[in-house]
Amino acid sequence: MQTIETDVIVIGAGPAGLCLARALDGSGLRVTVLERETEQCLRAPKFDGREIALTQRSVRLMRDLGMWRRLPPDECHPLCEARVFDGRMPEPLKVGGGDEPLGWLVPNHAIRAAAFEAVAECGNVTVHAGVRIAAVDADAAAARARLEDGRTFAARLIVAADGRFSETRRALGIATRMHDFGRAMLVCRVTHERPHDDTAWEWFDRGQTLARLPLGRATPVGHRSSIVLTLPGVQMRELQAMDDASFAQDIARRFHGRLGAVSDPGERHVYPLVGAWATRFAGTRVALLGDAAVGMHPVTAHGFNLGLLGVERLAAELRDAAASGTDPGDAARLARYARGHRLATAPLHLATRGIVALFTDDRAPARALRAGVLRASAGFPPFRRLLASFLSDRRGADPFAAALSLVSEQGDGRPRRADRW
Ligand SMILES: Cc1cc2nc3c(=O)[nH]c(=O)nc-3n(C[C@H](O)[C@H](O)[C@H](O)COP(=O)(O)OP(=O)(O)OC[C@H]3O[C@@H](n4cnc5c(N)ncnc54)[C@H](O)[C@@H]3O)c2cc1C
Repeated sequence: MQTIETDVIVIGAGPAGLCLARALDGSGLRVTVLERETEQCLRAPKFDGREIALTQRSVRLMRDLGMWRRLPPDECHPLCEARVFDGRMPEPLKVGGGDEPLGWLVPNHAIRAAAFEAVAECGNVTVHAGVRIAAVDADAAAARARLEDGRTFAARLIVAADGRFSETRRALGIATRMHDFGRAMLVCRVTHERPHDDTAWEWFDRGQTLARLPLGRATPVGHRSSIVLTLPGVQMRELQAMDDASFAQDIARRFHGRLGAVSDPGERHVYPLVGAWATRFAGTRVALLGDAAVGMHPVTAHGFNLGLLGVERLAAELRDAAASGTDPGDAARLARYARGHRLATAPLHLATRGIVALFTDDRAPARALRAGVLRASAGFPPFRRLLASFLSDRRGADPFAAALSLVSEQGDGRPRRADRW
């Protein structure tokens, strides 16, 4: 049986796995990426309905990785303001609206294509697409991935970047807390009558959660947005079965006319809502990355942003190991990565769970509580700054620094210019 020696095996050529491979360009480490999808799927991924809201920090990292310039400019849309509505509450909570966009909306398939293109020019990275992994194992000496075709790759580190249902994570004995939210999320591009003003809406309505993500300039037939609808499974099936005209009407009705007339819906994509939080982010010669470590509920739009944070942190450790001629699978390094990434992701992960629990509960006490939370937040500028910093990562994506700002920036309590709407 053939054994191929490499330094780092990355399982999964999704956005996280490919970004890590690219971040190791020029490090001197040999990187082997194993992916079950075909090379054609990686080179030209199909539109999957996801519009990824990228923080400014993520955009900077994608620039550094040589990905941003590969994105089609007409697929990158500024996200200038976010508004959060609760039920029929007349005034939403508003975040952003300053000179600089909070972030950018870019379709997931475009991110994947740009990442693959960026990796294709790395001399130290080999991508094996369309492969089936028969077994993975790791011990103090090496990490190994055996393919169904008989080849075995042996490395000093294996990175599981194979998504929130990661088989690698399970095969290596890392337990994970999965949380089924009992709902599904539908995403679809539509044309609508009223302008979106580059503003995203998140609307926690009775029995449904709606979002509207603005997609750039108006076309001759209207304004384009992606709508995101969260519903229990049975209702979702009814919605999927509708023809385009009925679906467009139904969406206009669900938004209570705020979009105006809705037309020309694109392909509908539905995702089950299941969160994942691995009990460990690293083990013997293994590190978890992207959704395999933290699979977020999309409501706070942070899954890939957190994945990129992990890429930055893990790549820094591995580059440092290569530069100093030490072992990239060294236990102390992996423990440092795991600890740092847990601290960086836990607040948002927990906050997201809390937000979903509070804002999707239609019982009277929960409704009263969230109306109070939003009212208090609207009248408390430091909270909005905290929210903006989470969205835009202006504070370097450090949730603790952002939380500290809540305390330190209250000052005399009077609103500053930027706090007024
Ligand atoms: C509707 C929706 C909206 C979202 N919106 C946002 C947003 O606005 N902002 C944001 O930051 N994030 C958002 N996310 C989250 C974001 O899409 C994910 O965090 C991101 O795609 C995860 O990337 P990944 O590479 O970790 O995993 P994946 O994208 O799941 O990639 C995993 C890869 O591993 C491969 N693979 C799996 N198993 C194996 C195996 N056994 N062997 C080999 N290969 C394997 C898969 O084929 C795939 O290529 C959203 C998600 C959804 C569903």
